[in-house]
Amino acid sequence: MKVYLDNSATTAVDESVVDEMLPYFSKIYGNASSFHSFGRDAKMALEKARIKVAEILNAETDEIIFTGCGTESDNIAIFGTLNSFNKKGHIITTKIEHHAVLYCFEHLQKLGYETTYLNVDKTGRISIDEFKKSIRDDTLLVSIMHANNEVGTLQPIEEIGSIIKEINKTRKDKIYFHTDAVQSAGKIKLDVKKLGVDYLAISAHKFNGPKGVGVLYKKRGSNISSIMFGGHHENNLRPGTENIPCIMGLAKALENSVNSLEKNYSNILSLRNKLRDGIIKKIPNVLINGSDEYFLPNILNVSFNFIEGESLLARLDAKQIAASTGSACATGSLSHVLAALGIDALAIQGAIRFSFGHNNTAEEIDYVLEVLPETVEGLRKMSPLWKGG
Ligand code: PLP
Repeated sequence: MKVYLDNSATTAVDESVVDEMLPYFSKIYGNASSFHSFGRDAKMALEKARIKVAEILNAETDEIIFTGCGTESDNIAIFGTLNSFNKKGHIITTKIEHHAVLYCFEHLQKLGYETTYLNVDKTGRISIDEFKKSIRDDTLLVSIMHANNEVGTLQPIEEIGSIIKEINKTRKDKIYFHTDAVQSAGKIKLDVKKLGVDYLAISAHKFNGPKGVGVLYKKRGSNISSIMFGGHHENNLRPGTENIPCIMGLAKALENSVNSLEKNYSNILSLRNKLRDGIIKKIPNVLINGSDEYFLPNILNVSFNFIEGESLLARLDAKQIAASTGSACATGSLSHVLAALGIDALAIQGAIRFSFGHNNTAEEIDYVLEVLPETVEGLRKMSPLWKGG
């Protein structure tokens, strides 16, 4: 049996999504900017996809920018907003962002921006009090992820959005609010108006769509200037010929995921809980990382003390089970997310992220629960730190 439990790294593209994409490779292949009927057909498809995505996110069509990926959406939102101010200032994020945001902030710090990295508690949530205190007169931008990619913890985005809205009523320069919703899109309902954000980033390959295509939601009237130069595509924010097959795939995948949101949520949650309960029952000295109140249903992060996560992954891989030590983009380094949660080094070293998708089954979890205890035991026997237990 081959078991894929790394759906937060990427997912399989659904058959119906592939079917949706296929005609746009060699039948409706025009350039959406071209004047002729080939171009008009492509443009029509593009705008249909835009309407679909806008409806799902509760946005207006002119607020939807198709991009090359989640990373690109984050970069356009952050740098584009700051470029529109004619001054440097203060920017706020969290210690547990994906590198697509964190490295933007590190770069901005080098450029002279003052940065605040908010702490999180041991479940991975920021403190609203600390957030309020961190806001300054010269704060320009707040970027806080919706759901964390390693532990699945959800942030209080709606509450942060309304705090910023209130503060903005009495300020000359508005504070802009961006959220990276790459992990939450397709898993829980996203309503940009309810969330109260100015920008929101999503990426198709995390919800059974194709790789290399994302969306940036940009609230109407937001001050943003392009960080790339070329054509006038995508509201002048993302120059370059639109990737129609992938955009069609993104819209279809997003539609699929919202159409079966509740069913998928409960199925995936029950698989996650089955694995969690089985691990706790069968394996001593484990720690479940993250929040058991505010979390995504598809991520389970477990520390197996006294072993190295990488060694466990290699042994699981040999048994045809795929998981990860955290972010696929940060393989090889100790998790900055788990460190921010205050987890000790031993538990960080032994941490594994299992991430579930709608293709996983209960039989697969049974197989993992058969293989995992003996694999962990075998590795612990080789560990000089393990005294049994
Ligand atoms: N943000 C988060 C929270 C992610 O998990 C990822 C991918 O793992 C990204 C951004 C980057 O998305 P993409 O791979 O589409 O660039």
